[in-house]
Amino acid sequence: MTETASSFKAKSTNTASDIEHRRKINFNISKYNAVVPVGKLQFTDVTLARERAKNAKWRAIETLDQQLEEFERLFTKRGGKVIWAETSEQALQAIGKICKEKNCKTLVKSKSMVTEEIHLNKFLERHEIESVETDLGEYIQQLDGEAPYHIVTPAMHKSKEDVARLFAEKLGTPPDLTPEQLTMVARQKLREKFVKAEVGVTGANFIVSDIGGIAITENEGNARLSCAFPKTHIVVVGIEKVIPTMSDLALFWPLLATYGTGQKVTVYNTIVSGPKQANEKDGPEEMYVILLDNGRTNLLKNPATRESLYCIRCGACLNACPVYKNIGGHAYETTYSGPIGSVITPHLKELHEYKHLSNASSLCGNCTEVCAVKINLHELLLENRHEAVDAGLAPLSEKLAWKAWKIASLSRKMMNMGNGKLKNSIVNKLFKGWTTHRSKLHFSQKTFNELWEERKGKG
Ligand code: SF4
Repeated sequence: MTETASSFKAKSTNTASDIEHRRKINFNISKYNAVVPVGKLQFTDVTLARERAKNAKWRAIETLDQQLEEFERLFTKRGGKVIWAETSEQALQAIGKICKEKNCKTLVKSKSMVTEEIHLNKFLERHEIESVETDLGEYIQQLDGEAPYHIVTPAMHKSKEDVARLFAEKLGTPPDLTPEQLTMVARQKLREKFVKAEVGVTGANFIVSDIGGIAITENEGNARLSCAFPKTHIVVVGIEKVIPTMSDLALFWPLLATYGTGQKVTVYNTIVSGPKQANEKDGPEEMYVILLDNGRTNLLKNPATRESLYCIRCGACLNACPVYKNIGGHAYETTYSGPIGSVITPHLKELHEYKHLSNASSLCGNCTEVCAVKINLHELLLENRHEAVDAGLAPLSEKLAWKAWKIASLSRKMMNMGNGKLKNSIVNKLFKGWTTHRSKLHFSQKTFNELWEERKGKG
C-alpha cells in the first residue's frame, strides 16, 4: 500500500468515528439539503436544464482548443495577457515573475481551488509575499492553517463556536462573538488589505469564449474587490472551465448557484474582459489570465474520462456522498475531495498514488444522481478501477485471490467440493481485507447441484 493510501485509511478511520465531526457536517449539509429543492423550483424542468448544461460543456470540451484560442484572441485584443501553463510550476513561476515586476509585498486572493491545487500560498510565503485569503471561509481556514475542507464551503466542518474561538486565539477578539460580529471583524481586517495590495488573484468559474472574458460568481463581493482594487489582476483557471457563449451563463449561473448553495442566483456575478480601458475609471491597469493544464489533458485524451471535465465545481456530489459525509474533506489529502475528487485526482496526479480513492466508494450512484451537469461519476470511479487493474497496479494478494476465485467459480467440480462451512472458511481467509469492515462472505450449506437434485426429487 502506498503512503498516500495508508494515510487516507488512517485519517478516514479516525474521522469516521468522530461523533462531533459527524454532528457538524450533518448540521451543515441538512441546511444545504433544505434549500436546494427550493432553488430548483426556478427551473421549469430541472432535468432538461442539467442536460442542456451537459451538452454545452460537451461542445466546449470537444472543441477546447478552438474555444481557448478564441478566448485568447478576444481577451488580448482588449489589452489582457494570456499565459499558458502546462504544469503548476510554470503557473507559479509566471505569478512569481509578475509579482517581482510589480514589487508586490501584499497580494489579495479570492476563493479559488486552482490556486490551492498549485499551492500558491506556500509559494508566495517562500517569496516573502503576504497572501491574504479574502473569502470568509477561506480566511477562517487560513487563520487556522488548514486547507479548505470543501470545494464550495471551505470551513464546513467548523461550528460558529469554533470560529469564535479561532478569532479569539488569532486576532484577540472576545471569545463569544456572534457570526455577524465575527464577519464584521473579518471585513475590517480585509478592507485594509484590499487597499494595500499590489496584486489581486482570483479564479474564474467560467471562461467565456465568445466574448474573451472570465465570469466569477460569489456571495461576498471580495472577488470583485480583488479584481478591481489592486493595479494588477491575475486570474488562474483550469482550461476546462470554458463555456462557448455568454448566453450560456443564463443557464450556468443559476444552475451553479442552486446546486452549490440552493440560491436562485449568487449575489455577485461579474464578467471581466480585460484591464481598465482608456475611457474607464475603475479596474486594474494590467490583467493576466493563466490557463492551467496540470494534468487536465490526461482526462481529455481518454474519451471515457473526458466527461469529468464538464464539472462546474458546485460541490453537490460531495454533499450527497455517504463516504464524504463520514470521512470528511481532509481525509482525502487532495485539493478536490468527494466523488469528483476521487475521479479526477488519479489523472491530475499519479494513478498509482491515488487509485485507492476510487475504491473508497460504495458505488451507490448518489453523486451521479445529484450532479448539476449529469456526469456519470460512479461509472468514472469504476473506469478508474479498470485502469488501475489494466495498469497492473492491483496488489499481488488481490490478483491471486481473484485468480483463485475465477478458477473455482468456473469449475462445477470445484464448486461441488466440500460443504458450505469449509468454503466459507477458505473464502473469508482468501479475502481477509474485504471482511475487515464488512460482513463475511457466506456460502450456502448445500451446493447448487445438491439443491437441484433435491428439487428434481420433489418434482
Ligand atoms: S461533479 Fe457534478 S456535482 Fe460534483 S462538483 Fe462537479 S458539477 Fe458538481
